[in-house]
Amino acid sequence: SELLLEVRDLKQHYKLDQGWLKEKKVVKAVDGINFEVIKGETFSIVGESGCGKSTTGRTILRLNEATDGEIIFNGQNIGELSYEEMRKLRRRMQMIFQDPYASLNPKKTIRQILLEPLRVHNMYKPAERLEKVIEILEIVGLSEYHIDRYPHEFSGGQRQRIGIAKAAILHPELIIADEPVSALDVSIQSQVINLLLKLQRELGLTYIFISHDLGVVRHISDRVAVMYLGRIVEIAPTEELYYNPMHPYTKALMSAVPIDHPDEKKERIILTGDVPNAVNPPSGCAFHPRCPAAMDICKKVRPVVEEYQSGHAVACHLYE
Ligand code: SF4
Ligand code: MG
Repeated sequence: SELLLEVRDLKQHYKLDQGWLKEKKVVKAVDGINFEVIKGETFSIVGESGCGKSTTGRTILRLNEATDGEIIFNGQNIGELSYEEMRKLRRRMQMIFQDPYASLNPKKTIRQILLEPLRVHNMYKPAERLEKVIEILEIVGLSEYHIDRYPHEFSGGQRQRIGIAKAAILHPELIIADEPVSALDVSIQSQVINLLLKLQRELGLTYIFISHDLGVVRHISDRVAVMYLGRIVEIAPTEELYYNPMHPYTKALMSAVPIDHPDEKKERIILTGDVPNAVNPPSGCAFHPRCPAAMDICKKVRPVVEEYQSGHAVACHLYE
């Protein structure tokens, strides 16, 4: 299996501008994470809101500049690319958002919206582009019939299909999908997930799928990383993570997922307290104030991510 992306010690710290305070506080939205994404897989990042999932996605695409660390795409360190080189590379790394309105200009028709990326990246001959637009519309389950309509004339699910078409028409290698179905009705969610899976097969796409919904993640992912307060606490192949979670935080998350085997008994682990603030994360293991298994060392020493079995890594003092 070939690596498409390597993320090395990535940090995204930014200063919080609270005008009335002289000293600016530093938010450690992403605080030294490492992972790899293999060509053709779906790698998911899960965690509660505010854990740094979206910031990670945006930083990989350099929509935010990383504070530190490396992002290596197809063997190339993209932090070293010039603005112009990065602009060209963007065709190969696309993003899908929770709210497709964020990427669909309401004043443009679907024809204009889908022709634009082809023009910007100078793909195909101008006379061929319309044909490509119609082709991608059909692939995502819409048709030529919709081409002169505006985004507001579509349902939420259809709009997400347009958002997906806009990303996929460029034939990218990597698509980062940030909560792409969270805003949709449950009945529509599986249709959109199935569309993403179909596109992956047909176009050979690799996904980074960002979500707080463990049910959806289980359905779509090959591997999953769990984030907590800007750090990765566990990474494993999907079924391994769901059947054998190691980190106490992952165990708590999994205990809240509905059981699909009637003979499987699971006790719900209720986490107390809110996710602490990334401005002032707890010392040592950032999960220690909420961890039912916390020990003395947990307050003092930050656990590192270590591989315990092939492909299954966890950051927790319980396993040292
Ligand atoms: Fe809990 Fe300690 Fe493991 Fe953190 S390192 S998850 S506090 S046991
Ligand atoms: Mg988010």
